Amino acid sequence: MHEVDFQAEAPADFGTDVLSVPQGQMMDLQVRMESVHEGVLVTGTVSASAVGPCVRCLDDLDLPVNNRFQELFVWPDRAQHHREVDAEADEQDEHQIVDEKIDLEPVLRDAVLPSLPFQPVCRDDCPGLCSDCGARLEDDPDHHHELIDPRWAALEALAPLASPSGDVDNEEKRN
Ligand SMILES: [Zn+2]
Ligand SMILES: [Zn+2]
Repeated sequence: MHEVDFQAEAPADFGTDVLSVPQGQMMDLQVRMESVHEGVLVTGTVSASAVGPCVRCLDDLDLPVNNRFQELFVWPDRAQHHREVDAEADEQDEHQIVDEKIDLEPVLRDAVLPSLPFQPVCRDDCPGLCSDCGARLEDDPDHHHELIDPRWAALEALAPLASPSGDVDNEEKRN
């Protein structure tokens, strides 16, 4: 068994449309490699931080990424045998040791990407933006718009202090 802690740069597109670990950012890896019959069983954790906008207020977010992974990398000459033993292991998702090396990238993608939230928010009660003008509601909690029904707009101009209920009836009768 061999344990190793190291850092690696995040590859391109390491994330979703919303959140990703920026390319080149260092990710911390703790990896344990165990020799098993067919190859090497790799277990570990990956830590990094993903960035992206809050889906409500569009503020930049920095979310910690911390995921465990485990994968069997098979020796090429044992691959056929491994497939016979484990019916579920087809060639597609089989990981092989190539030239005495293992490629962790696809394993890390499988571990991290599905765990990233689809709708990240800066905090659960983020009030977001005004749907009418885009103002940040957090900066202006009393923010609101006088919503005037366009049919009343002309009436407002004529009688700004009129009570809407009574006048609407009159307006409709006059029409
Ligand atoms: Zn927010
Ligand atoms: Zn507004």
